Amino acid sequence: MAPAVLVLESGRDSKKNGFEEAVRPPLGPRDSVEYPDGSSCVKGRRVDGWLTHPEGIDSPAVPAHPRNRPMSHNQRICVVGTGYVGLVAGVCMSDLGFQVTCVDRDAAKIALLESGGVPIYEPGLEGILRRNVRERRLRFSTDGEAAVGEADVVYIAVGTPGLPDGSADISGVLAVADLIGRAMMRPVVVVIKSTVPVGTADRVREAVGAHARHEFDVVSNPEFLKEGAAIDDFMKPDRIVVGCRSQRAREVMGHLYAGLVRSGRPILYMDNRSAELTKYAANAMLATKISFMNELARLCEAVGADVERVRSGVGSDTRIGPRFLFAGVGYGGSCFPKDVKALSDTASKAGIELQIAAAVEAVNARQKRVLGEKLVGRFGASLSGARIAVWGLAFKPQTDDMREAPSLVLIEELLASGARVTAYDPEAHQTARAELGERIAYAPSAMAAAEGADALVLVTEWNEFRNPDLKALAASMAQRVVFDGRNIWDPEELRAAGFEYHGIGRL
Ligand code: NAD
Repeated sequence: MAPAVLVLESGRDSKKNGFEEAVRPPLGPRDSVEYPDGSSCVKGRRVDGWLTHPEGIDSPAVPAHPRNRPMSHNQRICVVGTGYVGLVAGVCMSDLGFQVTCVDRDAAKIALLESGGVPIYEPGLEGILRRNVRERRLRFSTDGEAAVGEADVVYIAVGTPGLPDGSADISGVLAVADLIGRAMMRPVVVVIKSTVPVGTADRVREAVGAHARHEFDVVSNPEFLKEGAAIDDFMKPDRIVVGCRSQRAREVMGHLYAGLVRSGRPILYMDNRSAELTKYAANAMLATKISFMNELARLCEAVGADVERVRSGVGSDTRIGPRFLFAGVGYGGSCFPKDVKALSDTASKAGIELQIAAAVEAVNARQKRVLGEKLVGRFGASLSGARIAVWGLAFKPQTDDMREAPSLVLIEELLASGARVTAYDPEAHQTARAELGERIAYAPSAMAAAEGADALVLVTEWNEFRNPDLKALAASMAQRVVFDGRNIWDPEELRAAGFEYHGIGRL
């Protein structure tokens, strides 16, 4: 006889799409079972307002230890949060053959996805997404409750923005944990993909456990993808970090990611807290490399050295490596700035002062103003009436993301000093409009932006900016002054073509 399982008869709050304020009948008393390895689960039971699940999957009077339950090989996945990370994770997991429902509370985003559109620019994403929708492995929904109810594995991939005090706001993560506890219809593995401070897995465990009627595991599985190369990073990761404490969770995660580690890249199993901290440590280390070189670029300018030559000399040392050593206009994006701050916050709450992280943050804040300083140095404090062309708005190439973009700092400074700004970015005009509105002009091409400009400032190193037609550029600008915020041009070549060249830390 199929065992009984508990399902909700009714009670979804349609205004909230089932999120955060799911209306549930009161639960009956629950018994929880603690296992020797520290994991726990809750006995399922029939209570008023709950019915027997038609498929009768699971509701043991005393649940089997996770270790003794056979692992299903066709897990249904629900990903809550369909942003840069959640959408990529959902699309890639469906491409690995799993049934995936991507959920978001943003109804407009889900409607766009359901109609075949893609809300973000990410190379390669659209084709894989369409293929998996066509193959019926991938769906989109605002109904979190229903999607969680069907799932064996629920990814939490909502945002964890920085709060004014530098800490990470995990209220979205906890709201989803609450939803999972209320809506789960079977044992689930809860996978925290969002970047979260140390100790969040414990809080997720509490939030799910407050309502759960089935066993669950909480896995800390931070994401290391880079926007702009997200599909490749997800599908061919350097490593996968899995923080968990039960054997069952290990097995489920090993099964989910088996297709990604066939070429020998490791899955690193560890405890939840170490996994949570690993993500912050990795981002802070990368931010440190960038800020160190940005600071050296200032020194290069002061002592007459060229940071590009120093970079290649330093980066050839295999102990250091060549990546993340490019001097520029400071790091931006949705991760490094908030994650460095959140790491410092975690440390100070633990009574530790992380001096390097604090310095990295300060150096970066200053570096974001470097182009503004150079323009003032060249033209004087007032740019009243000057026409400044800006190439690149996104915080880095291959994305339309403008979060914490250095271009925003520069443009605000330019506007404050009276300049007229015309910008061009291959992908980010829409996101830029949401931030800057019509306070700047948006040109249809790089060349159109530079037309009649008194200075051209390159902020984002899109490939299409690497080899401009210098003759045409020189002819169309009012003054041939260029500021190369990413050191992508050859100063000699630019000077030979009649330009006044200003790089970052260059001769
Ligand atoms: P995002 O803002 O692009 O997407 C988050 C999505 O979650 C949004 O669509 C939002 O509507 C949705 N959401 C928020 N609360 C919700 C709720 N309660 N229910 C349903 N949907 C909800 O964020 P992102 O860039 O994808 O980042 C997500 C997490 O991943 C963050 O913690 C971030 O630090 C981390 N991360 C991001 C990157 C990156 O490159 N963007 C890389 C690694 C890790």
